[in-house]
Amino acid sequence: MKKRSLVLVTVDCLRADHVGFLGYSRPVTPNLDALGENSAVFSNAIVAGAPTYFSFPAILASRYPLALGRDVLGIAPHESTLTTVLHDAGYTTAAFLAGNPYLSRRYGYDQGFDSFHDFLNSAGTGPLPLGTTPGRFANLNQWIRAGSRQNGLLAGAYEELYFWYCQWRTARQELPMDTLRRYPAANVIVDAAKSWLSGLGDQPFFLWLHLMDPHHPYYPPEESLAALGTTNITARRARFLNSFWNRGDIGPRRLKQYQAEILSLYDAGVYWVDKQLSRLVQALRNSQRWDETVFVVTADHGEAFLEHGDRYHSPTSLPEHLIHVPVLVRAPELSGRRVLKRPFSSIHLAPTLLDAVGVSAPESFLGRSAWGQISAGELQGEPVITECIDGCNNPAQPDDRVRPRLMAVRDQELKLVINFRENQDYLYDLRNDPGERKPLLPGQRTRERVSLLQIARRHLLRTSDSQRTDLRLRARLRELQQSARMAGDSASLS
Ligand SMILES: [Zn+2]
Repeated sequence: MKKRSLVLVTVDCLRADHVGFLGYSRPVTPNLDALGENSAVFSNAIVAGAPTYFSFPAILASRYPLALGRDVLGIAPHESTLTTVLHDAGYTTAAFLAGNPYLSRRYGYDQGFDSFHDFLNSAGTGPLPLGTTPGRFANLNQWIRAGSRQNGLLAGAYEELYFWYCQWRTARQELPMDTLRRYPAANVIVDAAKSWLSGLGDQPFFLWLHLMDPHHPYYPPEESLAALGTTNITARRARFLNSFWNRGDIGPRRLKQYQAEILSLYDAGVYWVDKQLSRLVQALRNSQRWDETVFVVTADHGEAFLEHGDRYHSPTSLPEHLIHVPVLVRAPELSGRRVLKRPFSSIHLAPTLLDAVGVSAPESFLGRSAWGQISAGELQGEPVITECIDGCNNPAQPDDRVRPRLMAVRDQELKLVINFRENQDYLYDLRNDPGERKPLLPGQRTRERVSLLQIARRHLLRTSDSQRTDLRLRARLRELQQSARMAGDSASLS
């Protein structure tokens, strides 16, 4: 029997509540919604870590992000992944990733790929970030800024003036949206994937696409904005909105005035992803590969839009808008729409997909296949775990990733967030408080709190018991070699 092929699409920053097939009211995903009519869609899929660097070890290697130690980042050398398993099973493998630096060779994501394109050199540099002032003015500016820091009121006034000064300068420069964009748009990635597919022949393949369109800074194609009826946001306006949204010197109250426009930009990015994926599906249909292909769309994490005062996707807490992602699995034999409502962890994704194409999962995968349950249309579900390092925004800095852990255990109704820095845990009732506004009082739902805490404890014990020393050391060695190479003395380590 001919082997089935697999397409995995991961979309950076795509929230579960911003896709039509999970109920979003804005028509941002018409093509995926249509695909969802004959697919399994997971309405409670939760990532095992956030953001990108804490999410992908689970998606590709079915392993918790901190399981090899907090100082290890990425996929360890020789670690089994979805890719290496399929490659060993005779699949031709290719990745087209839209310039996310954490999904690069440096962190082992190329392992098992015959063809690996991370677009890191072709990505646009985008406009100068706020606060970057060219030329001689920079020195004067730094001097004034340093002086104003002596006085809080003066500092605020200075930042305000400086922001508007930068706006005045950039407004004189008319740049189109395509120039402002920092990462290659979905059409570029899909074009590259289509061209690879066209030269493939009829061997089974694994294709991984990672799309960055909903990632900030938000510069969607104008065509997407127009299609969603957002006609008042020009490239100049988008540049202003992104600069304002990026301000670190003001609070959520002032940022809020632009929230709706920022959401329109984000949604237009999602729309562009959807439109380009329909071109990919069409190409698979045209080449007679669609009927043998399992096609999956998911995200590495969500995005914050001031729900709790935050922007972007820093792991300073693990609210739903950061960890709840869409998962859509389309397979030729699935007919009708199956909505799987029980919690599903991304740790189970890789074994499930291997099962769907008929390849055995390696023992190192921690997750279990849910393919049988998907086919039956009902998930058993179990509490799911998300972990990351509190506030780790620059994991390339070793110091940044050995800080305390942040962890969430979530079942259908309740979610326990454990903050190891504060030595505190917070229990949320997601049914009555979906926005996680107020944790339950310490005496409430004690039995459930105990049970979720026990799951957390077992998880920590299991992780420390099963630290795979060999993989851990290989990953550490890779990092040291890379640093040494950068320092120009790789010879001493080789
Ligand atoms: Zn990401």
